[in-house]
Amino acid sequence: MRVIHYPHPTLQRVSKPLRRVDADLRKLVGEMFDLMYQNKGIGLAANQVDLPYRLFVVNESGSPKERDREMVFINPVLSKPKGSDEAEEGCLSLPGLYAPVRRPASIRISGYNLSGEEVTIDAEGLLARIVQHENDHLDGVMFVDRLSQTALLDIKDKLEEFRSEFLSRRDLGEIPADAKIFATLAELEKLRC
Ligand code: ZN
Repeated sequence: MRVIHYPHPTLQRVSKPLRRVDADLRKLVGEMFDLMYQNKGIGLAANQVDLPYRLFVVNESGSPKERDREMVFINPVLSKPKGSDEAEEGCLSLPGLYAPVRRPASIRISGYNLSGEEVTIDAEGLLARIVQHENDHLDGVMFVDRLSQTALLDIKDKLEEFRSEFLSRRDLGEIPADAKIFATLAELEKLRC
């Protein structure tokens, strides 16, 4: 498992709701947490590790020593957005790039955990920002899609670097062609969606 980078096509794809959670998926979620900690992240969506499911993991502390703060959201739904707040965001799929994003200041998130229990949280502050950022991933939306014109202009060159990096890695055969990527995702969907 590895974190894929912008502009990998899986990051622009709308993820599918999960219909079953099996032991293999639980293992994958554990690997997602490990990868998130290794990369100093506080949230990671399934499509950032090339999985097509509506699922993301969060640990606001970013620390593997605070496992009790880990949260898994399966098939999340956001509602009741309130207020507005701007803060700098980054993304493990765009390492090293940060920009200010305006979002609702608080939000309700409902979803299921790995035990199949329904979870509803009224999130505010950093947690509200994380769940909105991760939920966007499941809809194929990245934080750079939500920037003001001026903020976008500031990072234009860096985005271009990510694009040329992607193309050269594809030329080297490290990243498969779109058709191959989508066929693999379709197989994974058939298994659990
Ligand atoms: Zn992200």
